[in-house]
Amino acid sequence: MPIYEYRCEDCGEEFSLLILNPKVSTKVECKACRSSHTSRLLSRFAYHQAEASRVDAFDPRKPRGDSFYRDDRNIGLWAKKRAKEMGVDLGKNFDETVEKARTGKFMEDFEK
Ligand SMILES: [Zn+2]
Repeated sequence: MPIYEYRCEDCGEEFSLLILNPKVSTKVECKACRSSHTSRLLSRFAYHQAEASRVDAFDPRKPRGDSFYRDDRNIGLWAKKRAKEMGVDLGKNFDETVEKARTGKFMEDFEK
């Protein structure tokens, strides 16, 4: 069953909704304030699934070419893989740091 996450643009409320037929776009009402000014969010669950399989598929012993480093989704992958192998929990802060590095926000913060 596809469950989508929505955010209300008016009050900021986030909620998830079971969508039976995604092809039919219906106006989604905010559960908190009844506003129809809502937007669908990328499913966090789906994102983390993709990330997990990416880490699993990553082999640190294989040589990495230029294309590997050009794909900014691979930033932090090596560290995550190593941490997983060693059974280390890098924690939420590490994820955030990687996310910042990927979006370039890390450098902005650094320069402040
Ligand atoms: Zn709302």
